Amino acid sequence: MAAQEQARIAVIGSSNVDFIMQLERLPDVGETVTEGVFSQTFGGKGANQAVAAARAGGKVTFVTGLGDDVYTPTMRENFRRDGIETNRILVQSGMASGSALIMFDRQGRNCIAVAPGANYALTPAHLDACADVIRGAGMLVMQMEIPSSTIRRALEIAEECGTPTLFNYAPVRDQSVPVSAQMHTLVVNENEATALTGLPVSTPEEAASAARALRAQGPRTVVLTLGSAGAYVASADFSGLVPAFVVTPVDTTAAGDVFCGVLAVALVEGVPLPEAVRFANAASAISVTRSGAQPSIPMRAAIDAFKRETP
Ligand code: ADP
Repeated sequence: MAAQEQARIAVIGSSNVDFIMQLERLPDVGETVTEGVFSQTFGGKGANQAVAAARAGGKVTFVTGLGDDVYTPTMRENFRRDGIETNRILVQSGMASGSALIMFDRQGRNCIAVAPGANYALTPAHLDACADVIRGAGMLVMQMEIPSSTIRRALEIAEECGTPTLFNYAPVRDQSVPVSAQMHTLVVNENEATALTGLPVSTPEEAASAARALRAQGPRTVVLTLGSAGAYVASADFSGLVPAFVVTPVDTTAAGDVFCGVLAVALVEGVPLPEAVRFANAASAISVTRSGAQPSIPMRAAIDAFKRETP
C-alpha cells in the first residue's frame, strides 16, 4: 500500500485513565488482597482508535472529553506526540477524566469498573460545535462510550454532510443507538453481534448469518471480528472470512480498537475491503503480542513489515 495524501479521519469518543492491578487472585467482596503490581496507562475506545489510526498513517482529529485532573496534560501531550489534532478536545472543569479500575489475576481473569467522568460531558451541543470536523473528514469513526444522544447527533451530522462512518458498536451497554444505514461500516465482535441480533456466533456459518442479519438493518458493510480466527466481512462486493495472522497472544486488550482505527485508515486510502481487513488483522495481531492498550499499538512501518514477512 503506497503512502499517499489522504483525507482526515474524525474520531469522536472516549478517553480513559486505566489503573491496573495485577494480583495473584481477585479479592472477594469485603476482602483485601495485597502484593499487587500496579501500573497506570491510558485507554478508552475512542482514544485507542484515534492512536491506532494515527500510528497507521492516518491524519486524525480526535474529539473527546477530558477532565481537569492531573492526567489531562499528559493525555493531550501523548495525542500530540502521535500527530493527532487535539484542538477540538473538550476539557471539562470540575470533572475527572474517564477512568477504569482494572484488576486481573494469574489466569488473566479480570474485574473492571469504569467511571465515564468527562466522557459523558460530550453533549449533542458540543457535537454541533464540531460539525465542521465531521464535514471536513473522509471518515467518521465512533464507538459506544459516550452518551447515546451525542452519538446519534454525530451520525445525523455525518449523514447530512455525506461523510462515511465506521461505527464500532462497543460496548453494547444498551441498544439506544439503532443499527442503521447511517453506519456505513459496522464493526462488532462476537458478543456484540449476538447482543444486537440474538443469534449465536460460535461457528463460521453462524458468523455469516449474524453479519447478514446486521447488514439487513442498513450498514453497507459489516465486519464481525472473531479474535484469533480473523474477521468475517459482509458487503455487496465481498463476503467471507479474512483469516487472522497466527501469533502467540500476550494481552488482547484493545485488539478490537486497533482493528477499527487501522481499518479506517485503509478504507480512507481507498484500499479494497478484503485487503483493508487484512491490514487491520495484521495491526491487531501485532498488538496482541504486546502488553497494554495504547503501548501495544503498532506504527505503520511495523504493520507493513509484519504483513510482508508473515505468510
Ligand atoms: P475485541 O477485542 O473487540 O473482542 P477481537 O477479539 O475479535 O475483538 O479481536 C479483533 C481482531 O484482533 C481480530 O479480528 C483479529 O484480527 C485480531 N486478534 C485478536 N486476537 C487475536 C489472536 N489471538 N491472534 C491473532 N489475531 C488476533
